[in-house]
Amino acid sequence: MQTTRVLHRQLQHLPPRAVSGSGAWITDEHGQRYLDACGGAAVSCLGHGHPEVLRAMHQQIDRLAYAHTSFFTTEVAEQLANHLVANAPAGMSHAYFVCGGSEAVEAALKLARQYFVEIGQPQRRHFIARRQSYHGNTLGALAVGGNAWRRAQFEPLLIEVEHVSPCYTYRDCAPDESPEQYGQRLLRELEAAIERLGGANVIAFVAETVGGATAGVLTPVPGYFKGVRQLCDRHGILLILDEVMCGMGRTGTLHACEQEGVAPDLLTIAKGLGGGYQPIGAVLAQGHLVAALAEGSGLFQHGHTYLGHAVACAAALAVQRVIERDQLLPAVRQRGLQLQQLLQAAFAEHPHVGDIRGRGLFWGLELVRERASKQCFDPALRLHARLKRAAMAQGLMVYPMGGTVDGRTGDHILLAPPFIVSEDETALIVQRLRAAL
Ligand code: PMP
Repeated sequence: MQTTRVLHRQLQHLPPRAVSGSGAWITDEHGQRYLDACGGAAVSCLGHGHPEVLRAMHQQIDRLAYAHTSFFTTEVAEQLANHLVANAPAGMSHAYFVCGGSEAVEAALKLARQYFVEIGQPQRRHFIARRQSYHGNTLGALAVGGNAWRRAQFEPLLIEVEHVSPCYTYRDCAPDESPEQYGQRLLRELEAAIERLGGANVIAFVAETVGGATAGVLTPVPGYFKGVRQLCDRHGILLILDEVMCGMGRTGTLHACEQEGVAPDLLTIAKGLGGGYQPIGAVLAQGHLVAALAEGSGLFQHGHTYLGHAVACAAALAVQRVIERDQLLPAVRQRGLQLQQLLQAAFAEHPHVGDIRGRGLFWGLELVRERASKQCFDPALRLHARLKRAAMAQGLMVYPMGGTVDGRTGDHILLAPPFIVSEDETALIVQRLRAAL
């Protein structure tokens, strides 16, 4: 344990040692306080030390921490599954628990694959995903992930994936093109990829509804996901939406796909599901997929030792109940509007802020050397990492992202404050970010 910590600290240039957290703030061993404007990596949706979540975890751990799912289910796991299904996009009937985002993506990929084997279409072997996406660090998730540079050292990856363009309006939408026309162009590219592979050979299209960790916050253009859904349906291809980062209220609705008017076949969630109080993730699945597995082998050929962990489920259930009871989704929309306005007032004319984009409490700033040409900074500068350190020196946590434009160049800053962030704290975020920048 000691070795791990020291190695981690060395590799990360000795970050400060966090000792406590309360609300939107984390305190280090020297008493320095940091305003958590990114929820770590869009995780801490209720901030730190939320008393009701802690109480629910204590109560559960006093009763029972762990019971293997091959022997038992637990009341909290059932309640959490029921809560998730009751609030899921149309037709999603089951929740399959895992321990984090990468595991959720792995489970979704395997479930999709097994589904086609069960229904007698084993020739479907290909996935289509998008460049500049992030789906996790395990091999399957890495293979669907769109950052070629991250994948390079691990080639050949285990599954076959074709990558198409993401919705990157700031850089890719032509000056004479409307967002709708741009969306249609992206759909034609996707259709061409499907036709090249053969529609009957494709398992699923995998995409983040709102792109997060590797390309800044990439919001979809109107009609894009409806078009994707239609293309998938035409060819019997499943739609897997990865909302590990953008989901669970982050963009102002529980699921980001609600704003797109589409329901996926499989939806991955994690991060904000447990709000950082416990590692937990889930795959939500359409009833017809689960029914096919039930009629076939009767078993999803997948599982992890800690899935449905009782304390993790208790934490996640408490987080979700607080969000519902305290009406935090409207709060995200309202506070998000304030954040958007303040960011625009502070940075719309800034010489090195090329784009400000986002939804709810999920915002990205794309940094450029020069606004007119949209030229990136030299990646050797590692500007995003410098900015993170400069912000830390101001007592502000922002999430830095590099290589966001093409895998190598591009610098972004991600803001994803907790849903309970106050008006004054929101103003302080922008004030400190400005000083750091
Ligand atoms: N999918 C997306 C969209 C993510 O943003 C992340 C994490 N940044 C993951 C999957 C992987 O999640 P984890 O780090 O919990 O494995």
